[in-house]
Amino acid sequence: MKVGIVGAGMVGSAAGYAIALLGTATEVVLVDHRPDLAVAQAEDIAHAVPFVGACRVSAGDYDALAGADVVILAAGVPQVPGESRLSLLSRNADVFADVIGRVLAAVPGALLVVASNPVDIMTGIARKASGLPAGRVIGSGTILDTARFRSLLADHLGIAPQSVHAWVLGEHGDSEVLAWSMAHVGGEPLALCAAKLGRTLDAADRARIDGGVRRAGYRIIAGKGATWYGIGAGLARIVRAIRDDERAVLTLSVLTDSVAGIANVTLSLPRVIGATGVMATLMPDLAPDEHDALRLSADLLRKTAGDLW
Ligand code: ADP
Repeated sequence: MKVGIVGAGMVGSAAGYAIALLGTATEVVLVDHRPDLAVAQAEDIAHAVPFVGACRVSAGDYDALAGADVVILAAGVPQVPGESRLSLLSRNADVFADVIGRVLAAVPGALLVVASNPVDIMTGIARKASGLPAGRVIGSGTILDTARFRSLLADHLGIAPQSVHAWVLGEHGDSEVLAWSMAHVGGEPLALCAAKLGRTLDAADRARIDGGVRRAGYRIIAGKGATWYGIGAGLARIVRAIRDDERAVLTLSVLTDSVAGIANVTLSLPRVIGATGVMATLMPDLAPDEHDALRLSADLLRKTAGDLW
């Protein structure tokens, strides 16, 4: 598999590094409007490859993306001090308008995986600018929030995160919804499982886990300025699901006809993903308070998108 990455900053390079190290692709091409940065990142990642396996890592212009099966979009501009969120968004929309035309000229059949933040809005912009079917423009969405939720629940219960089935839905951001009512382990609802394992799962435990998931990005940014390793691995996970036509269920951000009564909104729900992109969406049967929270999240994203286009 050949993977293109546009935007060779922290997130794009972490994705390239994860993909190369995990052997997810045989070829990775980095593109950035700072060619020197793309060249340096590609060289640095390429030097890790001899320790693990075979993957050609290079930098190039858009034409070097030709033949890519997947193109990850990680380009964006940083917020200028004092700049409003909407102004930043509209500058990033301009970046995507430029990038997507060039990507599609090089790879008309591309499957786009969007990582730039705010990812739900940027995925909506990419969908519109590309004119591609919704299932071929996939935002990383809450893939990382879901991983954090499963890990914290697993730590609390003293079991493996892979054995915890739980999802974070909606916006990748403050309004995201931890779907507690849907979480289960070994076919048991969470509360029952906790009781059997001799653990509490009271309001204080839930509040601590909620904060651990919802505030994770803020904590990491406070400590090191940005986040990149977790999302880099999450992007490699998405690429693997596509490469192997896994039909894995991952929480991904995709344009959806109707979510909790809100029409045409791009946010995360459990999606079935395989070689052709997102093939199906699973709409969980949420508790009433979670359903209301998902509607608020969808409404917020819809309004923000509405301010932009
Ligand atoms: P993040 O932490 O989200 O990765 P960075 O600022 O580290 O943020 O990376 C964003 C990258 O996107 C930068 O390397 C920047 O040069 C690149 N970029 C910005 N605008 C464009 C563009 N129009 N085309 C290609 N790359 C771009």
